[in-house]
Amino acid sequence: MLLLDGKKLADEIKLEIAREVQQIKLAGGKVPHLAAVIVGNDGGSLTYVGHKVKACEEVGIRSSLLQFDETVTEEFILKEITKLNENSDIDGFIVQLPLPKHIDPDKVLLRIDPKKDVDGFHPVNMGKVVLGLPAYISATPQGIIKLIERYKIETQGKHCVVVGRSNIVGRPISILLSSKSKTGNATVTLCHSKTNNLKELTLQADIIIAALGKPEFLTGDMVKEGAVVIDVGTTRVPDTTSKSGYRLKGDVKFDEVAPKCSAITPVPGGVGPMTVISLLLNTLKASKHEVD
Ligand code: NAP
Repeated sequence: MLLLDGKKLADEIKLEIAREVQQIKLAGGKVPHLAAVIVGNDGGSLTYVGHKVKACEEVGIRSSLLQFDETVTEEFILKEITKLNENSDIDGFIVQLPLPKHIDPDKVLLRIDPKKDVDGFHPVNMGKVVLGLPAYISATPQGIIKLIERYKIETQGKHCVVVGRSNIVGRPISILLSSKSKTGNATVTLCHSKTNNLKELTLQADIIIAALGKPEFLTGDMVKEGAVVIDVGTTRVPDTTSKSGYRLKGDVKFDEVAPKCSAITPVPGGVGPMTVISLLLNTLKASKHEVD
C-alpha cells in the first residue's frame, strides 16, 4: 500500500514555486501579489487566512491581508472588491468565507473579476472548468488532481466514485476526472445523500474520492482490493489528549481501508496541504495572466 503523502508533495511543490518566484525577481519582473479579504474575527477563518498568508511568505509571493470589522456593510465590501479588481498591483485575491449574515456571499463572489478569482469559485471559472478551458480551478479539486498527477495514478478508463457533490469539492472533482485530459478520462459516478445502494457502487470503484464530511464513513467492507482512496474529509472531533482539544478525522476508516488499497491519503497530511499549494499555483498563474 502506497501512502499518498500530501504534506511531502506540498513541500516539494512549494520549493518549485519559490524557485520560480525567485527567477521572476532576478529577471526584474513583478513579484506575484495575493490579497485576502476577511470580515470579522472568526477564529477558524483567521487561522485559515493566516496559513495562506504564511504559505505565500514561504515562497516569496507578496500578500496583503485586508481585515474589516464585522459591522461593515455589504455595499462597503462590494466597493472594496471593485478596488481590488482595479488595482493592477494585486494579481489575485480571495474573500474568506463565511461572511457575516448581512453580507450576501453570492453578490460578493459575482463582484470578483474572474481574472483575479484565484479561489476559482466564480461561475465564469466554474463554467470554464466544465468546458475544459484554461481557468482557475478551486483549491481542493486542483490539489487532488496534482496529487494524482505527481503520484502517477492512472485515471484513464478507471471507474471513479466520488462521494459528495458540493460545489467546492465533489462536483468539480467529478468534472475534472471525467474530462478529456491526462489526469481525467475516468468514468465517474457522483454520489450524494440520496444515492441508493452506495456500497454497491463504492465496491465497484477503482478510485474513491470521499468528500462528505462524515468521520470514518467509508469502511473496509465498502472498498474493493487494490482501490485508490482519496480522503477529503476533515472533521474536528473532540480529543482531550490533544493540546487543541480536538483531532482531525477523515471520511475513511483508515485502519480498515488502508490494507485493502493500492494507495491512500492520510488525514491529516493528505489532501489538506495540497489545498494551500493550489492557491499559490493560482496566484502564480494570475501573475502570468494565463487565464485572461
Ligand atoms: P458539504 O458541502 O457538506 O457536502 C457534503 C456532500 O456529501 C453533500 O453532497 C451530501 O449530499 C453528501 N453526503 C452527506 N452525507 C452523505 C451520505 N451519508 N452518503 C452519501 N453522500 C453524503 O461538504 P464539503 O464542503 O464538500 O466538504 C466535505 C468534507 O471535506 C468536509 O469534511 C470538509 O471539512 C472537507 N474539506 C476538506 C478540505 C481540505 O482541504 N482537506 C477542503 C474542503 C472540504 P447532499 O448533496 O445530498 O446533501
